[in-house]
Amino acid sequence: MSHLSRFVFKVVTILLMVVLISLNTHQVQGQEGIVVENPEVTVDFGRSITFTAKIKSPIPIKQASILFRGVNEEVTRVETLQVAEDGAVNFIYDASLNVFPPFSSIVYWFQATLTDDKTYTSEPINFSYNDTRFPWREITRTIVTIHWYAGDDAFGAAALDAAGAGMLAMREFIPISLTDPINIYIYSNEPDLQNTLLLGGEEWAGGHANPELGVVLVAIAPGAGQSIEMETKIPHELTHVMMYRALGDKYINQPAWLLEGIASMVERYPNPEYARALDIASGNNSLLAFEDLCASFPADAGNAFLAYAQSQSFATYIRDTYGTAGLTRLTSAYGDGFNCELGATNALGTPLSQLDARWRESVLGQNITGVAARNLAPFILLMALVLVVPIWGAIDMLRQRRKRGNQTQ
Ligand SMILES: [Zn+2]
Repeated sequence: MSHLSRFVFKVVTILLMVVLISLNTHQVQGQEGIVVENPEVTVDFGRSITFTAKIKSPIPIKQASILFRGVNEEVTRVETLQVAEDGAVNFIYDASLNVFPPFSSIVYWFQATLTDDKTYTSEPINFSYNDTRFPWREITRTIVTIHWYAGDDAFGAAALDAAGAGMLAMREFIPISLTDPINIYIYSNEPDLQNTLLLGGEEWAGGHANPELGVVLVAIAPGAGQSIEMETKIPHELTHVMMYRALGDKYINQPAWLLEGIASMVERYPNPEYARALDIASGNNSLLAFEDLCASFPADAGNAFLAYAQSQSFATYIRDTYGTAGLTRLTSAYGDGFNCELGATNALGTPLSQLDARWRESVLGQNITGVAARNLAPFILLMALVLVVPIWGAIDMLRQRRKRGNQTQ
């Protein structure tokens, strides 16, 4: 064999070995790990979530578990599984004890430790924890999907129109993001909706929008009043979602009165009862101080209603006085962490308490500075007498002197 042929032989041998080794590792990798077949999730909303699958592995499984969490949650739940001879697993999660928010997205995956004492993890799988108790229909336009179960096709179309009109109206106050989807679920009555909120956990108690999930829940009965309800409720809740998308982490720093005030401004038909509630509360001096509406709204229905009425009127007053730019400066000051009183000073040059007083004066016709002036009136009169009498006396003296001077000339 010549040097050259020996060299070629060596190269070919090395190449063959490389190919064989890589084939070999490929085979080993193929044998390793676990394969999940036919994964299925059955949701019985508010009661249970049933996970089933078959876990296949080249060598026996010593121990297996299922792991899952809401996509926005930090904590992962881990449950040990019994694996049948054929790899079948089945796990029933009690959703009545450990609730997930309605319509939230849940991610799950499997882990198995095999007889080689290595632990293998499957690919994650997502599913929606939907309220499965109703026969939902749906219609989508751009990023908005309307889901409803009572009412005809026209009902769904009207709801889409209300959402579109709401987006146009809120464009004046906040930037609109059209990238992520928004799902609006319309229940046909308040008890159905309240029941869903109850099954979905406390975080839903305060409102009907979960901005983080891009999910809105409203109760609207099909019938004569449906358009007014749609054009009021849908834009309001959509505003919460869009504000969250515009502000991100800074959404949580916003005072409740500001979030609710802006959302209520976008409603096509502001509640006619708001004006009456404001009149009565102003008359009997039971208006709520805005500094008490920063962290949250009152729990009792009557005061909560008044809080909405005040917030809607107050936000409108701020917009009319300082413009939309003023509202934007306000959300950014609060977003930067200013407290409720000083956020207003930073953004508008006036502390919240003073803004509150000015709103009472100019919108509700209370006369706060006027009252102060009336209380001071007797003192002002006295001051005037004390000052004016000597001044007149001095002028009189000067006059007399001038007269005398004229006489001598
Ligand atoms: Zn709201």
